[in-house]
Amino acid sequence: MIDTDVVVIGGGVIGLSCVNQIPVGLKAILIEKNRRCGEESSSRNSEVIHSGIYYPHGSQKTEHCKVGRNELYRFCEKNQIPFKQCGKVVVATSQDEVQFLEGLAAHCEYEIVPFQRLSKNLIQRRIPWVQGVEALYFPLSGIFDVHQYLRCLEIKARSKEVTIATNSRVSRFLSRDPWILEVEEGDQKWQLRAKIVINAAGLEAATLSNEALQVDRYEHKLCRGRYLLINHLFSEPLSVLIYPVPEEEGLGLHLTPDLSGQVRLGPDTEWWSPQHKNKASKSLYDCDWDTLKKEFVAQSKKLLPSLSEQHLSPGFVGVRPKLYVEGKAYRDFLIERHERYIHLLGIESPGLTASLSIGAQVGRETEAIS
Ligand SMILES: Cc1cc2nc3c(=O)[nH]c(=O)nc-3n(C[C@H](O)[C@H](O)[C@H](O)COP(=O)(O)OP(=O)(O)OC[C@H]3O[C@@H](n4cnc5c(N)ncnc54)[C@H](O)[C@@H]3O)c2cc1C
Repeated sequence: MIDTDVVVIGGGVIGLSCVNQIPVGLKAILIEKNRRCGEESSSRNSEVIHSGIYYPHGSQKTEHCKVGRNELYRFCEKNQIPFKQCGKVVVATSQDEVQFLEGLAAHCEYEIVPFQRLSKNLIQRRIPWVQGVEALYFPLSGIFDVHQYLRCLEIKARSKEVTIATNSRVSRFLSRDPWILEVEEGDQKWQLRAKIVINAAGLEAATLSNEALQVDRYEHKLCRGRYLLINHLFSEPLSVLIYPVPEEEGLGLHLTPDLSGQVRLGPDTEWWSPQHKNKASKSLYDCDWDTLKKEFVAQSKKLLPSLSEQHLSPGFVGVRPKLYVEGKAYRDFLIERHERYIHLLGIESPGLTASLSIGAQVGRETEAIS
């Protein structure tokens, strides 16, 4: 049996950010089931630093995104993590969509998120391969290197003497007072006794919480987001993020340049159910790229009329944990404390942007109960 003050389950951006904010003097262990930290949602995304424009006033998403975005830019600068505040354009392709932009502009004025309006002429001059009737430009959005960010958080945690156990999976909660967790490491099983548990297990966090709290209350439905890479469509390197108006469950197929100059198109939204697994015996991260190319060309027609399948090559797949509480969709981050147990559920976009702010909140909560 190993003893610790705090155990953090999950080594994605959220678990790593939390473990860095554990108050001085408390012994902490982070448990990660994969060979390395950050191999799941945290490294399968758009790598965008969001400005915080889409979420309701006062929501956890808005608050953590706005605070986290500023902190993330500062963190990148201080720790030499590559980033670029390149700005983002949200483009309306019809009069109906202009209505949406009007609502978005009013919301951003209220939330004090700066933006500028772009006319049809300006769109044509600046991004000629995009077809739009009006657009909003958000200068605070940017891109960064999430792999270097993850590495930096991990190094900082180790330097604070946090133990990081990879290839180790929390499989069961054996006791609640005190917390005793069973951990599987290959063929071996060991036990861990902790005063405080922080569940940052991403896609698996809801299932773990039901077991830990002995409830049947939380569910993460999985929604895949697939990406393709775009080649040879643009006459000069893409220097800004380009988004359509958002759809119900995602932000719409957007164009994201990364820091190496490669451009991604995606992600889409595809619900993933146990039937998918049985039907095609595919893994969560598999994709039929040829079919996807056809779908993306059709879906992007309004925004990118000159795009064809020849411009596209296979990308990658990320997965969003869509949270349901007692069967009802819960559209915000859920960061809750149950005595000496803290969980982080529904941490989908803008989770990267918000990560430092979320970690700081969990650090304060941990201090309050330690
Ligand atoms: C398609 C897509 C695009 C996105 N784009 C952006 C974006 O541009 N900007 C932005 O701000 N956000 C974006 N996000 C959101 C962001 O990627 C996530 O919110 C963030 O990565 C979540 O981090 P996490 O640590 O909660 O989860 P994860 O990265 O999934 O980490 C959870 C970790 O827990 C581990 N784990 C699970 N169960 C156990 C267990 N039982 N025992 C031990 N370890 C366990 C897993 O192996 C994993 O490493 C995007 C997400 C997706 C899916």
